Amino acid sequence: MRVNFETERLVIRPFVPEDAEAAFRWCGDPAVNTYMIYPLYHRAEDVRAWLESRDLDDPDNYDEAIVLKSTGELIGSGGMLFHPERNAWEIGYNLRADQWGHGYVVEYLTALMDRIRRVRPVEAIDGVFAAENQKSRRVMEKLGMVWVRDTQYEKLDGSRTYEAKYYRRNLAQPAEICLVCDRIERTREGNNPYFVRELETGYVVLGDHQRFEGYTLLLCKEHATELNQLAPDFRNAFLRDMALTAEAVQNAFRPDKLNYELLGAGKGRHMHWHLFPRRQGDTKRPGPVWLEEDMNDDRYLPSAEKLEELKATLGRELDRLLG
Ligand SMILES: [Zn+2]
Repeated sequence: MRVNFETERLVIRPFVPEDAEAAFRWCGDPAVNTYMIYPLYHRAEDVRAWLESRDLDDPDNYDEAIVLKSTGELIGSGGMLFHPERNAWEIGYNLRADQWGHGYVVEYLTALMDRIRRVRPVEAIDGVFAAENQKSRRVMEKLGMVWVRDTQYEKLDGSRTYEAKYYRRNLAQPAEICLVCDRIERTREGNNPYFVRELETGYVVLGDHQRFEGYTLLLCKEHATELNQLAPDFRNAFLRDMALTAEAVQNAFRPDKLNYELLGAGKGRHMHWHLFPRRQGDTKRPGPVWLEEDMNDDRYLPSAEKLEELKATLGRELDRLLG
């Protein structure tokens, strides 16, 4: 999956083929490779070929680039892979050897686990490490995982077999599923009739109720509550996407004034833009739309035909602005 978020010291983002040189610093390092199942890389071009071959949209595989905020350097990769047969997410990571011992992996994986739990009911995380690898043992302990059984694993090329430990953490309480993350998931799966366009940082959707015709939302791809929680580049792009969406709504529906609101939804407080086309006299008293008690009345649910018309009108304007 493609994710973009920030922790205290890290920026997490999808890989691009241009990362090959930087990734070769650990993919080609025998010290990092010691306990990995994949063979050591000898050329950055091979790392590039691997990066180009990956499916970044696989919902069961989060394998992201770890960037150090303070220097902007790419220092590692990792994430979680879902194993349906045991209903658990297995952790995995690589970190440049000069960056070991700072707790970066734990910082990243803790945040990633929280994110995945907002869209999916995660029951357990687990991991396997070579018994002699004390560094990995500490990472798993810090993630709250405990020993389940001894096991073995071998390198993909069969060159070495390791005595290993299998660790697990059961997550007893299902986390609150975020309403916005859930809506985004359904959009990605093609199950959201209100979806209009995907932009770099969010999804443009029409509001369920069209009491104010042309009411449009921009759902942030990141589960964050405030703008300052987004990585700076992503935040700027999100604001640009908001302005672009607003311009398209204006062109499409020609209101007297457009109202902009950045709100959160439910307990997750996942920010999203509401864009309300306003017209003279459209409410009983002048004021924000939320004062209208009938705003979410079912009579404002658009017919299938009307919905298609609104989506087509807005979609055309977005396409025009996106060039
Ligand atoms: Zn969310």
